[in-house]
Amino acid sequence: MKKSFHRRDFLGLAASAGVCAIAARPFRLLAAAEITGEVVARADQVMGTIAEIFIRHPDRRFAVRAAEAALDALRAVDRGLSHFSDTSDVGRLALANGSWTDVSAGFIEISGMSARLNRSSGGAFDPAAGAAVRLWKAAARRGAEPYSAEIAAQPVGFDHLELETANRRARLTNPQVRLDFGAIGKGYGADRAAEALKSLGVESALVAVSGDIRVVGRLPVQEVAIQDPHDPDGSLAVLELDDAAVSTSGDYEQGLWFGKKRRSHLIDPRTKEPVAAPPASVTVIAPVAAEADALSSAVFVMGAARGLELIGSLPGRELLVADASLPGGRVMTPGFARYLRPEPRR
Ligand code: ADP
Ligand code: MG
Repeated sequence: MKKSFHRRDFLGLAASAGVCAIAARPFRLLAAAEITGEVVARADQVMGTIAEIFIRHPDRRFAVRAAEAALDALRAVDRGLSHFSDTSDVGRLALANGSWTDVSAGFIEISGMSARLNRSSGGAFDPAAGAAVRLWKAAARRGAEPYSAEIAAQPVGFDHLELETANRRARLTNPQVRLDFGAIGKGYGADRAAEALKSLGVESALVAVSGDIRVVGRLPVQEVAIQDPHDPDGSLAVLELDDAAVSTSGDYEQGLWFGKKRRSHLIDPRTKEPVAAPPASVTVIAPVAAEADALSSAVFVMGAARGLELIGSLPGRELLVADASLPGGRVMTPGFARYLRPEPRR
């Protein structure tokens, strides 16, 4: 029996025969997970999506406890980053009107990474673009695009966040700035879950938070399949991935609708508008999931050509972009091929 399941953003795990299988319906929870062989699978709803943990371990009861610890780590990240909450680090900074605010060690860490990725992507990845993100999401709920003056008034730029690492505090130099770690938080959460598993001695596991995946040690399932954006039953690529992370950014179900007009779910910080003509699918492999997550979103904003330049310049990071406009429908960094299974399966 070989089944695969696919997420809304088209990253799927193809579970192997007799290892673990999850029904082909997206968003299927734990009750649907068959636990067979030496792989324990556990899923829960967290960060507004589904998180799944696969652990290969001979002691099943230990693996179940470890999976719970991993999910707890994810929930803790969610609590710290939620911009819906007044008590999270992000929520308290929004209320602080520009004054210094005590923040968690996790906030310092994700902000430090974000600052680096914001700079290397030339501002394309910008978790301080939350005000523009909110404006567009609210406009989509009303079904009418915002006025250009309103769009122009939204502050962007991650250098609006000042950090004092030693004192563990932060402030927004423009109080109108809103932080939104939506494009790195799921990957960061997968990394924290992976660290929790490692500290318990787990040597083969996979954490998937929607389309953001972190593998601990040897891949515990047979393969990771990236869904073909144009064919719900097809795979764009099938990966073998040990001790690394992969993230796919896709546009399909996450778009913003204005009547019949569909616009992208990611905002281009240069225009403060939804990305115009983004690629159909962007996949980044990186050592950790926070980076794969942020970089896949960055390349989605930058497009294939600038994306190849950026990811090609970063050792140990690989990129695959699929879009009908590209020659052969796809481009990749030369090193991406190392992770490919020769025959994509159907
Ligand atoms: P994808 O997986 O398709 O890249 P993510 O789920 O990683 O998408 O990120 C999408 C979210 O990131 C948006 O819903 C929004 O909250 C936030 N976001 C939008 N534009 C940007 C941007 N340019 N930089 C960083 N975060 C953004
Ligand atoms: Mg992302």
